Amino acid sequence: MSKTLSVAAIKEGTVIDHIPAGYALIILQLLKLSQGKYRISLGLNFTSSSIGLKDLIKIENRALTEKEAHDIAVFAPQATINIIKNYQVASKILAKLPDAVARILVCPNPRCITNHEIVDTLFHVEEHKQVRLRCHFCEKTFERNEIKGYQP
Ligand SMILES: [Zn+2]
Repeated sequence: MSKTLSVAAIKEGTVIDHIPAGYALIILQLLKLSQGKYRISLGLNFTSSSIGLKDLIKIENRALTEKEAHDIAVFAPQATINIIKNYQVASKILAKLPDAVARILVCPNPRCITNHEIVDTLFHVEEHKQVRLRCHFCEKTFERNEIKGYQP
């Protein structure tokens, strides 16, 4: 058995591994997974040889979509997303940075129209040395750790 499976193995579902420590809860919120009926196991602050401390998420009976995988990549670019079938890794989704993230993030700019009117947010993803997010509406650019809010 792979040593990455430090939380009990699941029969069917998704394992998201190599999430930078501290981002598992954000990802759950982003994907609204905790509001669903799926059973979720969280591993926080596990040791990883590649990224230092890592988090991991196991979701039973739910395969992530590619779009969800790409949204995860904004916060966890090195995440490995394994779809599990009958206790085996049936497929892997490579988390690729999306071009844009719609709806889920809140613009940190208090003057931004998205904070005053009911409008879905949209951020363009830019990658230089780090991932940056540019608000489509106020055109300000933010580091990803400046974004503290997620739309409920
Ligand atoms: Zn904005």
